[in-house]
Amino acid sequence: MTETDLMEKIVSLCKRRGFVYQGSEIYGGLAGTWDYGPLGVALKKNIENLWWRQFVSSRDDMYGLDSSIVMPEVVWAASGHLEGFTDPMVECAKCKHRFRSDQVEGEHCPECKGKLGKPKMFNLLFPVDLGSTVGASRGYLRGEIAQGMFVNFKNIIDSFHPKLPFGIAQSGKAFRNEIAPRDFLFRVREFDLMEFEYFVNEAEWEKWFEYWRNEMWGWIESVGIKKDSVHELNVPEDERAHYSKRTIDFEFDFPFGRKELYGLAYRTNYDLSKHMEKSGVDMQYAEEDGSKFVPHVIEPTFGLGRTVLAVLASAYTEDELGGEKRTYLKLKSAIAPVKAAVFPLLKNKPELVAKAREVYQALKKEIPQVMWDDNGNIGKRYRRQDEIGTPWCITVDFETLEDDTVTVRDRDTGEQERVPGIELGAKLSALLAA
Ligand code: ATP
Repeated sequence: MTETDLMEKIVSLCKRRGFVYQGSEIYGGLAGTWDYGPLGVALKKNIENLWWRQFVSSRDDMYGLDSSIVMPEVVWAASGHLEGFTDPMVECAKCKHRFRSDQVEGEHCPECKGKLGKPKMFNLLFPVDLGSTVGASRGYLRGEIAQGMFVNFKNIIDSFHPKLPFGIAQSGKAFRNEIAPRDFLFRVREFDLMEFEYFVNEAEWEKWFEYWRNEMWGWIESVGIKKDSVHELNVPEDERAHYSKRTIDFEFDFPFGRKELYGLAYRTNYDLSKHMEKSGVDMQYAEEDGSKFVPHVIEPTFGLGRTVLAVLASAYTEDELGGEKRTYLKLKSAIAPVKAAVFPLLKNKPELVAKAREVYQALKKEIPQVMWDDNGNIGKRYRRQDEIGTPWCITVDFETLEDDTVTVRDRDTGEQERVPGIELGAKLSALLAA
């Protein structure tokens, strides 16, 4: 399978099986937007919940937040984004198509061979007019979620009196008017980020940078991204964002090339200092001995859409089982959109269907995301569940009616085991927690 094939197969599976659809598709689609269908949203939320558990709720040093998407112009002036949040853009003199100049080679348009103009800096923030009077007040959809954490820094300090080091975390939408959205979920104009600002004493920034670098590798493993396909890149100074003194990109071998998946940046105390200057609000942290300073910050950033794509690319598998070709998603059970599917062996035997319904209802109470399936024959149901990454298929057959055992089929090996119905919930819960 070539890499182009792999990408086509993932996009097609996503559409066919209800993971991801093109945004506003019935009107021809809106470039750079994708809509998550029932299975996609389940997968995405499972990843987000796993992240939240790993980095926020299981820790004592992290404070959760859900800040507003629209923020006033002054925030973006203070943070430097009005000036610095730009990409170099070139326009073709012939077809007027626009490109990011760092993504095209040579002086001619790849599509019509027209001559490309001189690069201009293009700001990626989306402006919004607030209120009913035109020009009354200019806001922006947030281009990164970090500013929400910085502008709430003092609120968290005042409410919780945390001691350094501590973090403020959130996940949510960010918007960037990308010049050339492309590569499915990779480069879009509206996307979800999961991120935290970890505030430290300046003297300790290197230690915490290393700590979070390790934790990011731990996450890559726990979410099920192939570790061998992830590579660290030390971003050179001239390519770093305006606020950063050190950045590592975690790049992933996507089917369309090695590209940034996550970032880890040392943002110094740039943002808090700028907000302190612009707002006049004291953003200093007070030590017990009374000394005050503006904390420095380490920022691990995780793009959620890029995570979904890397997870799908890592999980997509084609093999042969029982002499038949099949496609399956080898997803970690913690993030699989459906954990278990329950079927009656035959659809036209009312006693089997009734028993299977009973098993289904009972299981649904014990574990989340259980699905009922009685369409087509059993082989087809297995294939269908394999294709969406369901780790276990539970079949109720004639033996169940006699001894109350069901078969549990493992997605990866296709092996089946008979399990007493009464133990099913506990068994799957234990597997899920493993
Ligand atoms: P790139 O160089 O790819 O444009 P960036 O360096 O601007 O990315 P950051 O500002 O570090 O990216 O953004 C943080 C994270 O947000 C990235 O690591 C990535 O996971 C995600 N991300 C950034 N831009 C997009 C986008 N247009 N679509 C989807 N995810 C994105």
